[in-house]
Amino acid sequence: MANIFEKIIAGELPADIVYRDDQVTAFRDINPAAPTHILIVPNKVIPTANDIQPEDEPLIGHMIYVAKSLAEKEGISQDGYRLIINCNRHGGQEVFHLHLHLIGGRPLGPMVVRK
Ligand code: AMP
Repeated sequence: MANIFEKIIAGELPADIVYRDDQVTAFRDINPAAPTHILIVPNKVIPTANDIQPEDEPLIGHMIYVAKSLAEKEGISQDGYRLIINCNRHGGQEVFHLHLHLIGGRPLGPMVVRK
């Protein structure tokens, strides 16, 4: 069964898509943590960071390049932003389709890892 991000990529679920090409789709997070919160998602299914294969290295680089380009477009490059990939239970991953969070637009403070 297709996961929620596959459905967004296929156009079966609505999303605020800000960028797409043959490798990735980027859309605004439905529950934003900051004024800019965009998810950069590979079009092919890679469930978690653990599933990244050697042949995916260019794709992962492309995801980061798209993130920095979208940060420029959002006007948050100079102030800065955070890029996050959550993996599995301890990482707090909720959707098992690899995604890169681009978060910014306000000071994010220290990256807190609660005990
Ligand atoms: P993660 O915890 O890293 O798996 O993050 C999953 C993210 O997906 C969360 O920030 C959710 O708010 C976001 N999300 C879940 N469903 C949707 C959706 N339909 N459209 C946009 N973002 C979503």
